[in-house]
Amino acid sequence: ATPTAVMVATGKGASHGVLIKGGNALEKAHKVKVVIFDKTGTLTVGKPAVTNTMVFSKIPLQELCELAAVAEANSEHPLAKAVLAYTKKLHEQYGIHSDHTLEPKDFEVHPGAGVSAKVGDRTVLVGNKRLMLASQVPIAPEVQEYVSDTEHLARTCVLIAVDGVLCGAFAVSDPLKPEAQRVVSFLSSMSILSIMVTGDNLATAKAIGNEVGIKTVYAETDPVGKAERIKELQMKGLTVAMVGDGINDSPALVAADVGMAIGAGTDVAIEAADVVLMKSNLEDVVTAIDLSKKTLSRIR
Ligand code: ADP
Ligand code: MG
Repeated sequence: ATPTAVMVATGKGASHGVLIKGGNALEKAHKVKVVIFDKTGTLTVGKPAVTNTMVFSKIPLQELCELAAVAEANSEHPLAKAVLAYTKKLHEQYGIHSDHTLEPKDFEVHPGAGVSAKVGDRTVLVGNKRLMLASQVPIAPEVQEYVSDTEHLARTCVLIAVDGVLCGAFAVSDPLKPEAQRVVSFLSSMSILSIMVTGDNLATAKAIGNEVGIKTVYAETDPVGKAERIKELQMKGLTVAMVGDGINDSPALVAADVGMAIGAGTDVAIEAADVVLMKSNLEDVVTAIDLSKKTLSRIR
């Protein structure tokens, strides 16, 4: 496209809250055949909440929540925020004053798995099955059953272990954005395939995929893995767009032909992207592609 056409299109995009950084994204967006969506915070609202809890040992729920909340206190993860909010609510409900002298020691983040910390003299793990297996925490059949049931309901199961014993679990739900399904089916009508990629487990990812109308799901994928999936598709000659919000997504946003960041996402993702969806509305994925189509057809 000519510099003038690019200027007109980026101006038009900006007025719709679609920031297009430069002509390259604009030149490529109309050729997109596949859109890869991150799950958490992109297809979903990104504000997960605890909907259900289960206790598997003699430690009562209130105490278990307190231990989990202290272990997660320094975590930036949305799931940690859900655990903290739930614990706060529970304590208010029962008029419990949490022990503010409790502080996490030896706090450690295990990417794609969870966190660990010492709380008082107890070792607390909060995270998924992978974290428990890596720490040799046995998973009883009743726990396995709860995890499966939770995941098939499109929820993420957060497990809590205390001193090497699995003591409880949270079911955490993060609803789909209201426009998500409409956008996926609209893209499909444009012969564009939608794919989901996530660090979450396969059962939860598939259940969310069913709700939103995405059949191809890459689960348990780390940031490098997300970028690799994109390169595989590009090797087949496909032009690929990636839509994401997290630090996790930045290598994929760079690898994609057109990286689109959710405006409400992290600064790292916004910097890595070619296009920023300022309204954080997935409809603007279509707006960006349309803008590119119109710009390039006009100059031809
Ligand atoms: P994504 O944001 O794409 O879902 P992440 O890599 O951030 O993926 O996390 C993958 C999984 O690791 C989560 O679904 C969860 O099971 C577990 N996890 C990561 N961080 C935490 C945490 N702070 N607390 C509990 N679980 C966590
Ligand atoms: Mg995300």
